[in-house]
Amino acid sequence: MAQYSKNDIVTVKIEDIGTEGEGIGKLEGFTLFVKDAVMGDVVEARLVKVKKNYAYARLEKVLTSSPLRVKPVCPYHKQCGGCQIQAMSYEAQLQFKENKVKNNLVRIGGFDQLFIESVMEPVVGMEQPWHYRNKAQFPVGTDKDGRIITGFYAGRTHSIIANTDCALGVEENEPILQKVLAYMQNEKVSAYDETTGQGLVRHILIRKGFTSGEIMVCLVINGKTIPHCHDLVGRLRQIPGMTSITLSTNTAKTNVIMGDTIRLLWGQEFITDYIGEIKYQISPLSFYQVNPVQTEKLYGLALDYAGLTGNETVWDLYCGIGTISLFLAKKAKQVYGVEIIPQAIDDAKNNAKINNITNAEFYVGKAEEVLPEYYKEYEKTHNGEKAHADVIVVDPPRKGCEESLLQTIVDMQPEKVVYVSCDSATLARDVKFLRANGYELKDVTPVDQFPHTVHVEVVCCLHRVNS
Ligand code: SAH
Repeated sequence: MAQYSKNDIVTVKIEDIGTEGEGIGKLEGFTLFVKDAVMGDVVEARLVKVKKNYAYARLEKVLTSSPLRVKPVCPYHKQCGGCQIQAMSYEAQLQFKENKVKNNLVRIGGFDQLFIESVMEPVVGMEQPWHYRNKAQFPVGTDKDGRIITGFYAGRTHSIIANTDCALGVEENEPILQKVLAYMQNEKVSAYDETTGQGLVRHILIRKGFTSGEIMVCLVINGKTIPHCHDLVGRLRQIPGMTSITLSTNTAKTNVIMGDTIRLLWGQEFITDYIGEIKYQISPLSFYQVNPVQTEKLYGLALDYAGLTGNETVWDLYCGIGTISLFLAKKAKQVYGVEIIPQAIDDAKNNAKINNITNAEFYVGKAEEVLPEYYKEYEKTHNGEKAHADVIVVDPPRKGCEESLLQTIVDMQPEKVVYVSCDSATLARDVKFLRANGYELKDVTPVDQFPHTVHVEVVCCLHRVNS
């Protein structure tokens, strides 16, 4: 086998995409990971880190351009790292995501490929895959000439690249950022410096309610107040839709962006948005889905899969601010939501209240503790009768569900399990367990929540066999 060393230049055909969007090619059984290379390219690459059977390489030159390659919209896409696959056409991105889900279900889930093809719907893409993010957090700093800048961190670093026009964000971001910068220059307000811990303004959080048009700006500051806040407020109020201007204090030397507290400068502390018919109040610290257009499609599918008639008892595990729970509550008899973060549950309860939903109850705790404890307790207090659910929905973080939780789900014998996932590898692992324990995979639909990134969400439905 050929020996490779650092700085060697090699020619390679890119045949796959890695988890971070990097191109993958092979040289005599040796695997190369080439950042910024697109599947289908033939490239010249310089080896930067060589291991026994694989190496990381830097793209030097595209020798033959992939038919999937497009001219990226954003001039900063390589430095930023936010859009890992922007240089691929949107159709190719969707195809890549669909294949990824399919392959994981076959490889990890142990399903037959033809079976997966028979239960899987095409990936649900966006008609307009740009400007879809309703939230952005821009770091504020100083460039080498001492000018105040804002933009984004260059991938894997904390150096700020001045760019106020991210192609995934809303168009209002740009004028808002310009106004904050103008205020800072005018009033001589300093930018925070991460290395010294000095300076005032750390981050600018912007959120927009896509259905309401309401806009929120929150300045995260290394202090309690800002000077001449009427100047800032006066400028920001000129933006149509401005609803909420706040400060959040964060004086800790930390990578955490937001502080714990919010102080109102103008307007109200929250903005309102709708997903479907459900109204949400979103404060600067609330979790909220960043792509509401695709979220509505994703949760709409979850609701369809649940097939509710009004008589069902439903659990929504990992419920966050109750988005799915409230979606389901309108069509179910009773919904129980479980979530580990107490503030999210406060939001879920508030959202239930403002929507006049009275058949949703929320519990704070780990799903893998709350549900098994409920199950055991129910049996004790109901003369050995077992707790039953008609539908259980799970929407876990990337690591998926613990097996003990899956076991309790199986014990509760729901007719349907609806699994919403942001990582199709752990989804495939968990579906394999459910399949081995009396459940059959019926429907799978990938949904593209994050165009131009490697991420893909999936919703699928399992039915209890012989139910
Ligand atoms: N469906 C939710 C979002 C789910 S994201 C919504 O639309 O709001 C996954 C959620 O699981 C996050 O809110 C996270 O805080 C929560 N979580 C993580 N680990 C958990 C656990 N062990 N038990 C319960 N919830 C958990």
